[in-house]
Amino acid sequence: MSGLGQYKDRVEELKLRMACSFTLNDSNILLKRTKERKARIKDSLFTFSSTHPYIKELSEMISTDETQVMKLVLCNDPRIKAILARRRIEKIGEKSKLARVIPFEGRQPFSFVDPVLVIQDIKIRQMAIKWRRNIIGLSKICTVCNNLFRRSHVRRCNLIPDDMDLDELLNEKDYELFYEMMLLVQSKLRSPTRPIPS
Ligand SMILES: [Zn+2]
Repeated sequence: MSGLGQYKDRVEELKLRMACSFTLNDSNILLKRTKERKARIKDSLFTFSSTHPYIKELSEMISTDETQVMKLVLCNDPRIKAILARRRIEKIGEKSKLARVIPFEGRQPFSFVDPVLVIQDIKIRQMAIKWRRNIIGLSKICTVCNNLFRRSHVRRCNLIPDDMDLDELLNEKDYELFYEMMLLVQSKLRSPTRPIPS
């Protein structure tokens, strides 16, 4: 939901920024303090050479030359930010179903968080976050099939009309209807009865 991505991918982006800075700016304070200058640094962790294929790929994606791309990286150009964010969010999507159900295009501009985090109405926001995090109806029983409730029951047990999809309603920002559908789901859940002690 946060769009932050994995720690190692954020470190990669930081490395990219440092590489661009080293390459473009000879007066960089870290370079000044280094006795052996650019030629040596090129072989170190933060080198342009190690990120060169990445720079090349970025320059092809936005149709500009590599020097210009490095300048855009350093000035936080929105196009570069979006490319990097998409990449890191897609990587999470390989492991997390949640990241996959939130379309990149629908995320908040520039922070890339799931827009449900900023829904104005607090009761709808809380409900939406619980749904996204899969903690709605925890330990409740689905009254249609009398089994422990899971998200899949919404469809399988027809808890809401066929043409409704709760994640799609959120993605389309149809929050009032989402809330109405969630109340409908909750009305079909019950608390488990305690087992009778023997
Ligand atoms: Zn069910």
